[in-house]
Amino acid sequence: MNKKTVIVTGGSRGIGKAIVKSFAEIGYNIVINYKTSENDALSLKKEIEETYGVSSITLKADVSCEEDVKKLLNKTLDKFGSIDILVNNAGIAHDNFLEFKTKDEFLDTLNTNLVGTFLTCKYIGSYMFEKKKGNIINISSTNGIDTLYPESMDYDASKAGVISLTKNFANLYAPYVRVNSIAPGWVNTDITKELDKEFIDLEVKKILLERFADVEEISKVVKFLASDDASYINKTIIRVDGGLK
Ligand code: NAP
Repeated sequence: MNKKTVIVTGGSRGIGKAIVKSFAEIGYNIVINYKTSENDALSLKKEIEETYGVSSITLKADVSCEEDVKKLLNKTLDKFGSIDILVNNAGIAHDNFLEFKTKDEFLDTLNTNLVGTFLTCKYIGSYMFEKKKGNIINISSTNGIDTLYPESMDYDASKAGVISLTKNFANLYAPYVRVNSIAPGWVNTDITKELDKEFIDLEVKKILLERFADVEEISKVVKFLASDDASYINKTIIRVDGGLK
């Protein structure tokens, strides 16, 4: 049985939930982080423990809060004694026309998506660097590269920032910690289910595979990057977008 430990931020729902399950399948100790969705986190914990016989904990922590991130690090070490993989998946999006886009909203997006990734890479990544072993996977988005939308300019900026952080932390923690990023295109989750059908139809026309991704199509790539099969992949951004035209 593999007794490595993975922390998945925003692991209670959506892509994070699929990532949690993919590591449970291969016997990892799992930390399911969430901010508010305690019931989702607890039912996922029950599901993976019953299905895969793994050990897991749910941990309420706002990744944009420094004290919470320190708590995430320390409580994980208290429970499992080590941390092997960090998946920075927690993220939010506020889509809004420019006239309604406020500074508070902009900062909220940056705080969660970008500052949150900075804080976990800083504290949990430093722990890994000291141990001379570890692996970080940051979930960015094609919105951080080239599928830009004025309605989500805060989100797009945050995800471009995640790519920049990925490269800086890869430099900083070399040669011990591999730091990579995945840039998904559209994925079927709570973030996308609020979109109207007309918009979805237009977006699907831009994708060579003519559909949004399922969450497992992202989690499989995360699991690959975390594995020894990806032992020479470092400081890279992998697009998983079905081929955007
Ligand atoms: P989701 O279904 O809305 O789930 C978001 C997760 O993040 C939830 O577990 C949520 O926990 C957690 N979270 C939000 N703010 C947090 C905070 N401050 N601290 C800790 N956890 C927090 O989102 P998703 O669609 O699965 O997206 C997951 C990641 O993939 C995000 O980074 C997103 O930007 C990225 N992504 C998504 C798509 C897409 O099409 N869905 C495409 C490209 C990239 P609570 O419920 O407790 O708040």
